[in-house]
Amino acid sequence: MAAHCPACMPRRAALALGLATLATPAAALDAIEPRFRRSPAPDGRRRVALTLDACNGGFDRRIADAVVAHHARATIFLTADWIRQNPAGLAFLLAHKENFRFENHGQHHLPAVLGTGTIWGLRIAGTLDAVRREVTEGAAAILAATGTTPHWYRAAAARYSPAAIPAITRLGFAIAAFTLNGDAGASLPAHTVAARASAARDGDILIGHINQPHRPSGEGWARAIATLAGSGVIWSDLDAMRPILMSP
Ligand SMILES: [Zn+2]
Repeated sequence: MAAHCPACMPRRAALALGLATLATPAAALDAIEPRFRRSPAPDGRRRVALTLDACNGGFDRRIADAVVAHHARATIFLTADWIRQNPAGLAFLLAHKENFRFENHGQHHLPAVLGTGTIWGLRIAGTLDAVRREVTEGAAAILAATGTTPHWYRAAAARYSPAAIPAITRLGFAIAAFTLNGDAGASLPAHTVAARASAARDGDILIGHINQPHRPSGEGWARAIATLAGSGVIWSDLDAMRPILMSP
């Protein structure tokens, strides 16, 4: 996998209607990064949804322990490869099902992008058939491992060719974008992650990474979870928040 997973890289300045067109080398690939529109509620309370990608790699117990310790909730986007690579991590998550729910991050962590090439070092799926296989095989692995049927899909690198999005939704999955990138692919220092994530506003859907246990970002997430919990935040999820995907 890439040194820095993806969904990951800092938000680019040139966002139009919530979509970022990638600079080279990905621009040539016609890849887009859908975003959610933040949907605050009218009652003034602060709801946040924490989503954590388990791209291929390890298991960051610092984050998972903080979620459990502070009675938080997180949606873990699993890949089939991560499940196979992390039996102990999976067992931990399953032992705390009140804190974690599971959604689909694909089979082999391939961006849902057509053509040839790589994005952030990740080989792209290439064809619609490969995109569909990534989705369905990822879902099958999650069902087998957790007993739950996922219905949100986040492609590796959170990148999609426009034609891949309807191909995915026709399989019964909603595209899981985000509103606030907390760790830029687990590449940010702890204090930056803590500051970004702690500043989440009502309706924010945070994205982070739980597959990099040796990077400083995880410590930042642990601090942010403690801070958010201490502030009385309401831990929500994608189903409850029903965020609106910004159209290409
Ligand atoms: Zn990923």
